[in-house]
Amino acid sequence: MTIFEGKGICDAVAMGRISVIRKQKKEIERKNITDIKNETERFENAKNEVLSELETVREKAVSKVGEEGAAIFEIHKMMIEDEDYNDFILNMIKDEKVSAEYAVFSASKKFSELFSSMENAYMKSRAADIKEISERLINHLSGENENIIDGEQVIICAKDLSPGETILLDKEKILSFVTAKGSLNSHTAILAKSMNIPAVVNVGDEFLSLIKNGDYAIADGFSGKFILNPDVETISYYEKKVDEYKEKNNLLLSLKGKESKTIDGRRIDVFANIGNAESIKEVKESDADGIGLFRSEFIFLGRDDFPSEEEQFFVYKKIAEEMNGEKVIIRTLDIGADKQADYFGISDEENPALGLRGIRLCLSRKDVFKIQLRALYRASEYGNINIMFPMITSEKEVDEILSLCEDVREELKKEGIPFDEKTELGIMIETPAAAIISDDLSKKVSFFSIGTNDLIQYTLACDRQNLSVEKFCDTHHKAVLKLIEMTIKNAHKNGVWVGICGELAADISLTETFIKMGVDELSVSPPYVLKLRERIRNIDLSK
Ligand code: PEP
Ligand code: MG
Repeated sequence: MTIFEGKGICDAVAMGRISVIRKQKKEIERKNITDIKNETERFENAKNEVLSELETVREKAVSKVGEEGAAIFEIHKMMIEDEDYNDFILNMIKDEKVSAEYAVFSASKKFSELFSSMENAYMKSRAADIKEISERLINHLSGENENIIDGEQVIICAKDLSPGETILLDKEKILSFVTAKGSLNSHTAILAKSMNIPAVVNVGDEFLSLIKNGDYAIADGFSGKFILNPDVETISYYEKKVDEYKEKNNLLLSLKGKESKTIDGRRIDVFANIGNAESIKEVKESDADGIGLFRSEFIFLGRDDFPSEEEQFFVYKKIAEEMNGEKVIIRTLDIGADKQADYFGISDEENPALGLRGIRLCLSRKDVFKIQLRALYRASEYGNINIMFPMITSEKEVDEILSLCEDVREELKKEGIPFDEKTELGIMIETPAAAIISDDLSKKVSFFSIGTNDLIQYTLACDRQNLSVEKFCDTHHKAVLKLIEMTIKNAHKNGVWVGICGELAADISLTETFIKMGVDELSVSPPYVLKLRERIRNIDLSK
């Protein structure tokens, strides 16, 4: 038994077998072979496996993003059967007597360079598709795809997982994930919480050399322990802990359908934060009163090209419809910092958290921003959608956003496309600048939501990704609480409601403080909704 100490995410424990994700090596070595027939067969078999894998992925994507959004997988299927691509690989195996992996790798290089050099933007972007299908083929040839154990839920182990990689993981197959790197406030960690997956991050690089597929392990999201090959006593200790946790959770379930109201009668909206449309299931299970933050940028991650207006519309409409008229706050894309999508072409930045992030990127790429706004307004017809803008620092930004929204509404009217004229617009207060000028900002919008993850990072100058400054990052720091209080006061003075959607909203040691400050809504990951309701119902402000 080996115990690794990391940081726990999501109060739960996972026990099961491990599946290790070792990222694909960038270069494939040239390896000579003697049996051409065998190598050709290996390639053909891998191709068939990839074709059926792509069909499964396509079917899943249709239910997530609609036919149009899933069309890319149809294109991938066609590309993998392309005659030129296949001839190149088969000829190389035959003429140069090289391994199928190396032949596919060489084809990937040749065809992606060819596409990259083309003038036409559509053809240019096919370069990434060639790389993707080739990578799938190489994974099948080298057995890397076998890291998900068939039909069994597993603990995913990796060096690190980006938010884009995490969103692509099939939740149905995952018990937990454990990473060598990572921090508690990273978007990967936040995503794990919103999907209700216990995770352990930052267990250190050494664990990667000691684990292998199929090993049994325990990931303790409470203590941050990752226990490899636990002994019998440890297993029975954790089995008891899991039972106790289930019992506690069952008690919380009795709060479903009840109001989130203090003993003296103050009602607080308890909403949920999510990162993808599938998490609506968790929102419903949690009995949240609405969605306080849908991080729309996750639609843009883990892919090679921009999602179209249709694809986005499908996702927003689905969320609005499934929430049956309950409030749904959709945040416009907050790409940048740890959430990177290469196809945006953001050049490398020294300090990406202080760089072209969130609204700054949207206002620099109005073409992309407008597509999202059109999709959001169109979806507003199907439920109670509210649009929220991230990373605001000035009134000028808000003015620019409001005028763009006006343009979009005019456009839709002219095209005869229906939308809800009463769609409310709000902003995130997550920079000290926004909190300080919240009096002026609240005259321009309908609501505020305080993003404490970034507000803390920017107020205390502590990079939320950097664990070495964690001890300087006092989440209860007076400066942060004063900014929150100031924001709520200014908003209420101007008739604007205020929520908190950063992770601090789930900190029940602060619930009473926030309610005393006058907060209207608290939005947390689904597993924390009932815990927060329980806390609120035990507060008596009259005392
Ligand atoms: C925040 O900053 O608190 C927030 C909710 O946004 P994100 O965590 O996505 O940056
Ligand atoms: Mg933020």
